[in-house]
Amino acid sequence: MNSTSTMISTDWQARADALAIDGRAFVDGRRATGLGNRIRPTSSPIDGRVLAELAACGPGDVDVAVAAARQAFPSWSRLGAEKRKGLLLALAALMERHADQLALLETLDSGKPILQTTTVDVPGAISTLRWYAEAADKQSGELPAVPQGATALVTREPLGVVAAIVPWNFPLEIAVWKLAPALASGNTVVLKPAEQTSLSVLLLAELAAEAGLPDGVLNVITGTGREVGAALAHHMDVDALAFTGSTAVSRTLLEASGRSNLKRLGLEAGGKSSNIIFSDTADLATAAAKAAFGAFYNQGQVCSANSRILVQRGIHDEFAALFALAAAGYGPADPLAGLDGNGALISSAHTDDVEGWIVRGRTDGEVLFGGERRVIRGSDAYLEPTLLGGLPADHDVHREEIFGPVAVLHAFDTEDEAVSMANATDYGLAASVWTSDLSRAHRVAGDLLAGTVSVNTVDALGNTTPFGGFKQSGFGRDLSLHAFDNYTAPKTTWIQFG
Ligand code: NAD
Repeated sequence: MNSTSTMISTDWQARADALAIDGRAFVDGRRATGLGNRIRPTSSPIDGRVLAELAACGPGDVDVAVAAARQAFPSWSRLGAEKRKGLLLALAALMERHADQLALLETLDSGKPILQTTTVDVPGAISTLRWYAEAADKQSGELPAVPQGATALVTREPLGVVAAIVPWNFPLEIAVWKLAPALASGNTVVLKPAEQTSLSVLLLAELAAEAGLPDGVLNVITGTGREVGAALAHHMDVDALAFTGSTAVSRTLLEASGRSNLKRLGLEAGGKSSNIIFSDTADLATAAAKAAFGAFYNQGQVCSANSRILVQRGIHDEFAALFALAAAGYGPADPLAGLDGNGALISSAHTDDVEGWIVRGRTDGEVLFGGERRVIRGSDAYLEPTLLGGLPADHDVHREEIFGPVAVLHAFDTEDEAVSMANATDYGLAASVWTSDLSRAHRVAGDLLAGTVSVNTVDALGNTTPFGGFKQSGFGRDLSLHAFDNYTAPKTTWIQFG
């Protein structure tokens, strides 16, 4: 470790030591303990230290939060888009002012490196919030053609109270992907973070109140999926539910909507995305570097991770060597040290699950590199970037989501073979293609069943482009103007005057 990184390390650690974290929920404009004052400690995967006592909310607390959001809805929706824009921009400015604190909470809670949370997660969340704030007052309705003697207006109406249930892999960013379009279009929100990572969004709610968002417009309620998540999903006064998480939980939400009030659902579920590298790829070293990013970034805990790498046979060995070199940049390191590389996985238990896949890969095929667990700061939630190979194309490792730094490599011969392998999964979130043949790029992109196909890059994503899945990766889209469809409904007002 050089002297600069030692200095950074000391700095972030000192700031972490000085933090006094409030783990109470945020309901109706203020901090609230759960009913019965139940609490649950939350700890850091970095080193196991207890970070805060979180309010362990239950269904009664959900009722209180939903009632607050319901009460706030009429005046928030009638406030007008321009005023909502101003308040959301004020929140973005406050997030910027508290960016270091948000990043530190995110790192401590999730295990991500501080270099990532300060440069990607927090700036990304702020940029998305600004984008939707700015979009708020630039939407217009329609004047469709109707018979003479009448005028019809089609306006976009907010749905009411939106519940957002989000996962632990990008706690702040994914929360903002939901709440920014929901709030900008005039809904009020009850947000349930993952039980492992509640701290950054609790601070966000506090900043929202400071920015001037009225009480009840943004509520954050902490607790388990089984209690708080299920209560929101079954609630008769929640109008829409925006979810990112597993396909298994998505199924329970569909059922809950059917059994309660047919609330609108947007489901962003898991994925198993392929990265297809053809032998006419112009720059194989870049392809290998991006492939390592696609497979191992964020400890591989990315729903659209390109964890299945399909390489045309003629370049297989050359690619494998370049990929091994690139993967070395994702070795685990102390997340507070300010270094490149990966941090801790979300928990020791999740690392056990991911390691289980490595064991299966070793038994049925081979470990081409990595595969070892590391202990850093006394925590064993660190894992080397790992590549499996020698597995049949229909092996579970090729089809199931591992959600850790574990990729699988497979050779193919023809374009058709690559496409059918990539499509042979229940998921359809993302895919990547590397080729210098423009016709092939279009042809393969057209044939892949995925919400996003990246050509000559991986995991392409931005505020302006929709993100979401086909097949069992869910439905509805985050990001871009399409996200407004999750939170608004068209209303026809027909005025007969003839
Ligand atoms: P998860 O589905 O277990 O949990 C996600 C959220 O749902 C958490 O807040 C959890 O508390 C809540 N939840 C759990 N059980 C619930 C229930 N019965 N009712 C209501 N809510 C419930 O997923 P996870 O393990 O936290 O996250 C990993 C998963 O998320 C992976 O499958 C990953 O692919 C997926 N993911 C998808 C995207 C996407 O955009 N498609 C993005 C990130 C993560």
